[in-house]
Amino acid sequence: MGCEIIDLSLSISPVGPEHDQPKIKYTDHKKGAFLLGLAGLLYKKESLLKRLFLWLIGKYRIKTDEWPDGMALAFEDVRMDTHAGTHLDAPWHFGPTSEGKRAKTIDEIPLEWCFSDGVILDMREKEPGSLISPLDIENALQKIGYQIKPYDIVLIMTGADKYSKEKRYLTDYPALSQEAVFWLIDKGIKIIGIDSVGFDRGWGMMFSDYIKTRDKSSLWPAHFAGRKREYCHIEKMANINKIPKPYGFKVACFPVKVERGSAGWCRAVAILDENRE
Ligand SMILES: [Zn+2]
Repeated sequence: MGCEIIDLSLSISPVGPEHDQPKIKYTDHKKGAFLLGLAGLLYKKESLLKRLFLWLIGKYRIKTDEWPDGMALAFEDVRMDTHAGTHLDAPWHFGPTSEGKRAKTIDEIPLEWCFSDGVILDMREKEPGSLISPLDIENALQKIGYQIKPYDIVLIMTGADKYSKEKRYLTDYPALSQEAVFWLIDKGIKIIGIDSVGFDRGWGMMFSDYIKTRDKSSLWPAHFAGRKREYCHIEKMANINKIPKPYGFKVACFPVKVERGSAGWCRAVAILDENRE
């Protein structure tokens, strides 16, 4: 095969701690046989009345036992936010403009940004609720002996994906400071990923700071960095710790093309080329 692929994504799941957890209505093969058996009603060669008559007398009906093995097709109806599961946030999420121009929506993100060399910054030692500073990033890079180059995809490893089904997933992780985001953007970075629920601290922490001070800068500072300087981030990644080396691999994170969307779900992966050291 020549390459190994590590899944950096969470499943889209109805089970988890978020208030707007996805809703999935599963239709199995048996139920699919019943529902597809009704499809003759949509066979528009005849008037609705005639179709209904032909269905009632059985001519337009496919009964369950007529399907191969008595089963038809399985499918799902999914209701969820664009920010559910592993997803890429477009600059439009942060504000209507970025760097003085209309901010890009998710369908406008250059795909070249979404397939590039990856580098892991290990932030697992940082306290939950603390902020990652430019110095933390410099130290993490020094530890692995790597210099960031433009268009690298930077993966912030907090380890919070381990408890993505628990309440503490919403609060217990270090977040990016605005200065750290600018530091990375200055190096030519367009995509930064994190394996926690969000790029900023949990809502409750930001809110309690805000009501004490009424200081706007306590609200989503890392997100709002994207109004001044254009960048994207991936939230709710997973398995960054399964990548066996801190750099020397590719990341692919193509977002689903939601028209005019502020974000798109993505199946983020790390690609390791076994023929390359
Ligand atoms: Zn998001």
